[in-house]
Amino acid sequence: MSDETTADDATVIVVGGGPAGLSAALFTAKNGLETTVFDTDGTWMHKAHLFNYLGIGSVGGSEFMATARQQVDDFGVDRRQGEEVTAVSENGDGFTVESEDGSYEADFVVLATGANRDLAEELGVAFAEDETVDVGVEMETSVEGVYATGAMVRPEEWQAAIAVGDGAAAGLNILSNVRGEHYHDFDVPADAERVFGELISE
Ligand SMILES: Cc1cc2nc3c(=O)[nH]c(=O)nc-3n(C[C@H](O)[C@H](O)[C@H](O)COP(=O)(O)OP(=O)(O)OC[C@H]3O[C@@H](n4cnc5c(N)ncnc54)[C@H](O)[C@@H]3O)c2cc1C
Repeated sequence: MSDETTADDATVIVVGGGPAGLSAALFTAKNGLETTVFDTDGTWMHKAHLFNYLGIGSVGGSEFMATARQQVDDFGVDRRQGEEVTAVSENGDGFTVESEDGSYEADFVVLATGANRDLAEELGVAFAEDETVDVGVEMETSVEGVYATGAMVRPEEWQAAIAVGDGAAAGLNILSNVRGEHYHDFDVPADAERVFGELISE
């Protein structure tokens, strides 16, 4: 991120719109960062039925994805469904993301491509010995400003709840970086009117 970039104009590109990617996008868009998600809809969630997502008794994977997509759309995410990212590269203080349809710039990139780690490998992020992308609890890779989340950072522990947690951690860390201090996305009941009245207009 360049020194001139402020909390108001930082941009985030998320590659992959499964649970991990949409969770990251939810946090960054909800808190004012311009956020774009590219997704080819190959999410494993279409094969799943969740009985183990805390707080939700039972939900079909595709139904879960429909709700998640609506939720990020409501907070203003530019969700480019069906547009495949073909390359991510460093570009000065930020990144260039290329798809079949164009070229895009961003200050932060969140990789959330499921078990497919090709883009991470081409970008040159460090891998662990078990061939997963090497990240800490904040989900940032060895390349500053690039995050990796979900199935790509674990050899086998593939669960929707874990992917959503990874995305949230990445989103919060981006927000902390942009704002220069630890950021909490805490809401209380009195925030409902603001959220539904202003942030979500319909
Ligand atoms: C049969 C089955 C049953 C399951 N049951 C459960 C269950 O009961 N409970 C549970 O918690 N989990 C379950 N899971 C696991 C769960 O689906 C995964 O943990 C979860 O989907 C991982 O989320 P993710 O966001 O990391 O990756 P994914 O959901 O795989 O999403 C990655 C997304 O990135 C997109 N993508 C990849 N590359 C690109 C690119 N270059 N450009 C644009 N988009 C790209 C893909 O098309 C995909 O939509 C199940 C999985 C399977 C296969």
